[in-house]
Amino acid sequence: MRVGRLLRSVNELGYTPRMRFSLIALPTALIIILLNAPAAWPQEAPGEGVATALGRIRDAGLKDDWAYQRLADLCDKIGARLSGSPQADAAVEQIAAALRAAGLNVSLQPVKVPHWVRGEEQAEIIEYPGRPAGVTQHLHLTTLGGSVATPVQGISGQVLVVHSFDELRAREGEARGKIVVFDVPYNETLAVNGRAGTAYGQGVVYRAQGASAAARVGATAALVRTVGGANYRLPHTGEMNYDPKLPKIPTAALSAEDAMWVARLAAEGPVTLRLKLLPQTLPDVESHNVIADWPGRERPEEVVIVSGHLDSWDLAQGAIDDGAGVTSAMGAVRLLQTLGLHARRTIRFVGWMSEENGSAGGQAYFNLNSAALERQIAAIESDNGAGRPLGISAHVPPAALAQFTPLMAALSPMGATLLDRREEPGGSDVEFLDAAGVPTLAPIVDTRTYFDYHHSAADTLDKIEPDNIRRQVALMAMMAYFVAEMPEALPRLPPSKPRVR
Ligand SMILES: [Zn+2]
Repeated sequence: MRVGRLLRSVNELGYTPRMRFSLIALPTALIIILLNAPAAWPQEAPGEGVATALGRIRDAGLKDDWAYQRLADLCDKIGARLSGSPQADAAVEQIAAALRAAGLNVSLQPVKVPHWVRGEEQAEIIEYPGRPAGVTQHLHLTTLGGSVATPVQGISGQVLVVHSFDELRAREGEARGKIVVFDVPYNETLAVNGRAGTAYGQGVVYRAQGASAAARVGATAALVRTVGGANYRLPHTGEMNYDPKLPKIPTAALSAEDAMWVARLAAEGPVTLRLKLLPQTLPDVESHNVIADWPGRERPEEVVIVSGHLDSWDLAQGAIDDGAGVTSAMGAVRLLQTLGLHARRTIRFVGWMSEENGSAGGQAYFNLNSAALERQIAAIESDNGAGRPLGISAHVPPAALAQFTPLMAALSPMGATLLDRREEPGGSDVEFLDAAGVPTLAPIVDTRTYFDYHHSAADTLDKIEPDNIRRQVALMAMMAYFVAEMPEALPRLPPSKPRVR
């Protein structure tokens, strides 16, 4: 509709809703109100208590499949969407179009993002104790994001298998000219007991820092046992970081089974691998964060973010990481709009670009808003998958927890009763705001199986239970509404340094 487009294009210039009405001639405004009566604002019941509003949001969210349908579109029609790829651009367009079609005010924020492209990746064991003549063994591996390439013809070298950084240091005299294999198991016992994030954190340091640790002792390449559970010989990719003071050597994740195999052979005697990894790092490209505002009724210039990241790794559909989070956040804003519920402050959906390889989207948003951070009231991010929602984690001053009582009461009927104060940002895209003292929050979800699929070729739509998306939409909408409706903004923490990723 032309009138709708006019409104949207006015909004994309960055005017607040109040300014919009003063810009458009009164007759046009009347037509808009008549044509768009169900979605126009303000229209919530005057004086509706927050408890009643939260109950309405919860009950409507638990029946709402709009977000799951958006997730299905994102996964099945676009699929993998690593920053810099045509699919990432398509995801920006698809998400922006869905939010516009729902009647929300959408803008695209430019972000310069890395453009790393996976190439050929092959490894085989070409020498080992007891090898029958003429036999080599193919290994399942995947290049880690950001890795440099081997020469086109590949490299070969003896392996040095270690099980920790300490062991590497103890054996550094053996490492020169070798391919270091970090055989560090993912702690599934922690994961199945509800501490998957801790298990991941213990393993991911090897993925992130293994290459530079190996380069420091003269290795030619580093292979890291995949960081994830459910061993179906699936390598999981992910970001790695080079220490700028050290030579950059190629690096990849080996499936858990293959890391164990190489380790068993190496325990018997010398093992030689041939390794070919041919990724390319291309110049940065322009991409976008997708932003959609649901205006506040009293202080529209103050913003509560509800968000997820719209990029994914390149091996699969990125359904759990982070299709589920970004579409639940979209669904949360759209749900409030459907209910006509304007909180005191603006609730802003952000679909972050390029979380997976450096959080350029989060950084760009912070830079753009850093001159008026007092307007950034809180930021919610969902980036822990699509397990059943169990509650809320919040990085807020300890005394602020008591203020969440009405929200927790409203969440109780859906079983999301946890309220944890955590000394970490609500997500890696909001960590820049977090470091400046802005309160950040996240849904707590069941992550026991999250790292079975995360960053692997098995992160596909079929892993997701639609009811969990409904629950996440309800939870995120309730969190966002509650925080945006508080008469006094949540108190802030003292600014800290952004954590090193
Ligand atoms: Zn993620």
